[in-house]
This record gives sequence, C-alpha cells and structure tokens, in this order.
Amino acid sequence: MTDGPTAGVDIGGTKTRAAVVAPGGEVLASATAPTPSGGAAMLDVAAGLVERAAASAGVRVAAIGVGAAGVVDPGTGEVLAASDSFAGWVGTNVRTGLRSRTGLPVVVTNDVDSFLVGEATWGAVRGVGSAAGIALGTGVGGALWLDGALYRGAGAAGEIGHMPGFGDARCTCGQRGHLETLASGRSVERRYAELAGAGGVGAAEIEVRARAGDTTAARVLADAGRAVGSAVLVLAALLDVGHVVVGGGLGRAWDLLEPALLARLRDEPPVSGHPIEVHRALLGADATVVGAAALARPATPWL
Ligand SMILES: [Zn+2]
Repeated sequence: MTDGPTAGVDIGGTKTRAAVVAPGGEVLASATAPTPSGGAAMLDVAAGLVERAAASAGVRVAAIGVGAAGVVDPGTGEVLAASDSFAGWVGTNVRTGLRSRTGLPVVVTNDVDSFLVGEATWGAVRGVGSAAGIALGTGVGGALWLDGALYRGAGAAGEIGHMPGFGDARCTCGQRGHLETLASGRSVERRYAELAGAGGVGAAEIEVRARAGDTTAARVLADAGRAVGSAVLVLAALLDVGHVVVGGGLGRAWDLLEPALLARLRDEPPVSGHPIEVHRALLGADATVVGAAALARPATPWL
C-alpha cells in the first residue's frame, strides 16, 4: 500500500460505482454501471469500473475498499446475507474475488459502514469521537463509529433498520414492526398508498407533494422522522453517542423529516442529560465510495 490514491467501490442494488480518491478525500474520477445479477458478474463489473476510473484519473491505485450491500464478514470478505434483490451474492468472497481480478489488496465492509466512515473522515461528523450513521434508502441501514473506530460486532452491528418496536406492519425481513416499516423509502411509498388511496407514487414525488401542501404526504414523512428519532434515543441510551448522521435517498427530504425527529428528542431527552446532535449527511452519493477508499488506506488507524 502507499500514500497515493485508493479506490472505493459502492456495490448497490441497482448500480455499482467506483471512485479514485486522493489521500485528502477528493474524488479524482468515478465510473458507474448497472449492477448485474450474480456474484462473479458483480465483481467483474466492479473490477472494470475501478480500471476505468483509474484510467480517467491517470493514476495507479494502491488498494481497493469495497462497501458492499448485505452483511459482510470483514475478516474473510465473504457476503453472509443479502436481500432477495441480490441473486447469487450470498457466499461471494468479495476480497479474494476482486483481488484475483485486479492484483490489488482489497478491504471489504458493508455499504452503510463505508458511508459512516466517509462522513466521519471527511463529512458531517468529521473529527467526532463517536457517532451513529443511519441510511434511509430503499431500506434502513445503520452503522456505528465508537471511540474513533468502526464498530462491526460480528459483522452486522448497528443494523437498526430491523430494530423492533415500531408498530405492526410486516418488514422486508418477514418480521413485524421494525424501524424499516416506517422509515425506508419503500415504506413511505407503501404508507402513502394506503393512507391516500393512491398507489405507485414514488418517494421523491411524495416529498414534492408534501412541500406543496399534501397533508398525507407530510404525515408519512413526519412519521418516518419520528421513528428515526425513537431509534436515535435507543442508540443514545445504549451507547451514549453524541452524534448521529442521517443520509440515504430519503435523507434528501431532510426538511420534512427533521422537525418530527427533533421533536421526538425534545419530548424524551436521554436520561444521561447529554445532548445528541443530529446531522444531515454532507457527502451525498459520494459518502460510500469515499469511505470505502478511506478504509483501504494504509494509515487507517481503525484497521
Ligand atoms: Zn425487519
């Protein structure tokens, strides 16, 4: 490994993105392609994108960091679990597979872990000792940064989307009442369809309608914000993290989520008396690739 640029790869459900990132966090070049079906094809695409991004930046990368969807064993680099939309992904060894395709050292973690590393290294929670990350996307992901290091547990630490206690709706995992049933993009769409009697309206359109005065649209987004607030209180009670960073696609509706989220924190402040600062993610779509690239750096103190 070297002090030069590293590559970060974000393998998501619909697209895969690779970026070449300078030691200071600057994205020098990036390349994106649809995520194909099957583990080997996904790694072929990831390796090709790293090569393309490095060629367009005109640099050689020293190592690759991967933020992969699903539950990943950071020790072996193997995907242990993933949602049904990732056919042929479970059992794939991302580390050895990408290393054999590129000849480069590879570090693998979960995509939400990478998002939080990006925000903790160069984004909204830069320099803080401890923080939780919450990604409100198609589902709800979470990650923990404790005492200056990523905390993974056995690989799935911080998976707050499947925390119980949030009503009775069926979750994507098959159980009921998880945070994800109120706070994911998909659940906002489902709840709007139920309450407004209008199906097929996407989360982005629901945001537009809420801003235009649609009270049902505003309500489902406020419910999502309130649910995230409850999850933040659990994280604060359990870990005493002083900072939480919220990102993901639904995080774009920050102005519609934040009032209910903050009201929840005001209504039931942590017994510690310690304040909790909730931040909007700063790095946008770059957070995962930039964080993955940071994980691949030799000086990364938390590896
Ligand atoms: Zn669940």
